[in-house]
Amino acid sequence: MTSSSHYISTRGTAPRLGFNDTLLAGLASDGGLYMPEQWPSVTHGNPDATFAQRAAEIIAPFVGDEIDSHALAAMCRDAYATFRDPHVAPLRELGDNRWLLELFHGPTLAFKDVALQLVGRLFDHVLTARGERITVVGATSGDTGSAAIDGVKHCANVSMVILYPHGRISEVQRRQMTTVQSANVHTVAIDGSFDDCQDLVKAMFNDRAFRDRHRLAAVNSINWARVLAQVVYYFTAIEQLHASESAPVSFSVPTGNFGNVLSGWIARRIGANVGHLIVGSNANDILTRFFETQTMSATGVMATLSPSMDIQVSSNFERLLFEMNKRDGAATSAQMTRFRESKQLAVDAATFGEWIRPVFRGQRCSDVDTLEKIAEVHRRHGVLVDPHTAVGLVATDACAAPDEPVVTLATAHPAKFADAVAQATGVRPSLPAHMADLFERPEHTTQLPNDLVAVQRFVASATTAR
Ligand SMILES: *Cc1c(COP(=O)(O)O)cnc(C)c1O
Repeated sequence: MTSSSHYISTRGTAPRLGFNDTLLAGLASDGGLYMPEQWPSVTHGNPDATFAQRAAEIIAPFVGDEIDSHALAAMCRDAYATFRDPHVAPLRELGDNRWLLELFHGPTLAFKDVALQLVGRLFDHVLTARGERITVVGATSGDTGSAAIDGVKHCANVSMVILYPHGRISEVQRRQMTTVQSANVHTVAIDGSFDDCQDLVKAMFNDRAFRDRHRLAAVNSINWARVLAQVVYYFTAIEQLHASESAPVSFSVPTGNFGNVLSGWIARRIGANVGHLIVGSNANDILTRFFETQTMSATGVMATLSPSMDIQVSSNFERLLFEMNKRDGAATSAQMTRFRESKQLAVDAATFGEWIRPVFRGQRCSDVDTLEKIAEVHRRHGVLVDPHTAVGLVATDACAAPDEPVVTLATAHPAKFADAVAQATGVRPSLPAHMADLFERPEHTTQLPNDLVAVQRFVASATTAR
């Protein structure tokens, strides 16, 4: 294995790190995001290999020699043994040249489990070897919190405190977090909004003494290891279709922070037989507008039926921008500073024509069209899809030729968004068997005011309690 295991920041000045430090760092110290110093090349593998085997093979060149290959393989096996489907990410045919890639068979029923089940194990492995502990703090408006909690609940060296807005997340989402019985996991209901929760988390990170004393860390969607773990299913989907040497397979990705679709771009970059990447957005259509106008322009956030895609700015886009800037960190940093100030970021025609036009397609989808698509898929195929997946399917219709093979990523189980699915189809999807008693399980949570001192006191007691 060569030296492709070092990472550099998109803003050019943070120290170059190995895989393990990149994993634990999250954001780079210059405010940038970590990218591999070199792209390895990865070949398509055996369609009969298990998902865990392929994950270990595809991830290994990015880890280099920092983690023993047997240990990596064991972590992949354990992580993907938590999925209810033996294929982990199975394909389902949905008409000619169309498939769904079901990424929702993990413990919390959304695609974030694919990354977070592995990332929790990687964290614990690295921390155990170093004899260190960390405290992951985060804010959630629903999905990420439960996937992160499930990913670290067995970690000996990670404490976790997740803040959520009291009374403002769905009961399924709340119960998925508050019913986890694990001494290292703590949920806090804040008397405030999601933005208040995020501000509290930011304030804790900005309090340097507090951050260092409790070794605060994050597992948000800019974490390199999360992006990396998601690269795997682009390879395995093509392998399941026996399409590694035939016509390229396009992927349609319901997109928020641009993490998932960036993983598809990376798969394509390192050798997967990926055709187009179709970016589906809801009414928060900053990416669709970018594909139409070559300018990124931030507006306010709107609430939609696909809440995990309700974002203002897609943070992982900076990684693609870095590539578009020929890996010039200073240029990327200047661009991001201008974007923060003016809320506008324009890309010149030559760069757009080289990097975006040949690869990306984009389509926005309203709530009305989302419901109509859920109803249509149920009518025509007898399949229930969640609202995020429906946005991906609408984008597929709009952007792909009929003879182009397209895999649409199904990012959440329909039961996770049962109200929208029932509204569209009249059928209420039920939770899978392992979660059928979710509403009977006891909840553990702490309610706190929107007050930094109170929250810091709680975090301090939670991290020293064990
Ligand atoms: C997080 C999430 C998305 C958006 O993924 P990004 O990587 O942020 O683009 C889409 N669908 C569901 C169900 C999600 O939980």
